[in-house]
Amino acid sequence: MKEVYFKGGFVPFKEAKIGVMTHAFNYGTGVFEGIRGYWNAKKGQMYILKMAEHYERLIKSCNILKINPGKTVDEMCRITIDLVKRNGYKEDIYIRPIAYKSSEVIGLGLTGLKDDILVYLAPFGDYLDISKGIRVCVSTWTRISDNMIPARAKITGVYVNSSLAKAEAKENGYDEAVMLSADGHVAEGSGENIFIVRKNEIITPPLHHDILEGITRSSVIDLLREEMKVGVIERLIDRTELYIADEIFFTGTGAQVSPVIEIDKRKVGTGSVGKITAKVQKLYFDAVKGENPKYSAWLTPAY
Ligand code: PMP
Repeated sequence: MKEVYFKGGFVPFKEAKIGVMTHAFNYGTGVFEGIRGYWNAKKGQMYILKMAEHYERLIKSCNILKINPGKTVDEMCRITIDLVKRNGYKEDIYIRPIAYKSSEVIGLGLTGLKDDILVYLAPFGDYLDISKGIRVCVSTWTRISDNMIPARAKITGVYVNSSLAKAEAKENGYDEAVMLSADGHVAEGSGENIFIVRKNEIITPPLHHDILEGITRSSVIDLLREEMKVGVIERLIDRTELYIADEIFFTGTGAQVSPVIEIDKRKVGTGSVGKITAKVQKLYFDAVKGENPKYSAWLTPAY
């Protein structure tokens, strides 16, 4: 990484450092986003996926945490395009904006503190095995709920909850974890939303059920409706529905569309990538890589 957007300007990566007393570092009082840039070698273009949607969600997260990002969605998009150009990668990237409580003081709270925003990016390939599928467990860690730390805000501190689940899964030989909400229903993965297929119905937990309001989740719902003519049912999912599902897949900016082939040592369907999952995965990749003009509005060319 050559340059980072930091404290109002572009600086070399090595110079972008925060102080030890920074509020967000001490208390987790930051909000962030993860945005993918897909490099299309044939077209010599970097496509930033759903950039405005990510910054709109960042601003909503800011509002929940009383952070003033000091920039509009348009301004943040312009900064991001500039940053992508300055770094000049010719491979897939991951863009990470963070808005955070930047005051260097001891003491809890959200008001009377300075706020700041930074953006960095890094080369980034596939986060989970999207071709063979992944093996997952149901975590012993419960997903935080709205009145503890709001899950719909992408708050840095929330990711302690996700990291505990992911670490436990990895330590026990799984690729990823499914987290249950405090009421025992399926919430989401440690960093992705979940869909299950049962008897040709596609089901995902509703937005008011302690999940991040995933941008990929909504892209996939659109693709299923538009291209495959199937609606997605949003309802609570029992843990044991995972064990009898025909197909399961995760969606997320990092995870993209990741097939789940095993859960808690039980095969999902036939134990290989499901038909609907494979189809929606192909549709998703064509759209995000700039291969389907119908979805060009999802993409911002950076170069
Ligand atoms: N849930 C959590 C906890 C996440 O961290 C993410 C990744 N941002 C998602 C779901 C998926 O959200 P999106 O599709 O917007 O990346």
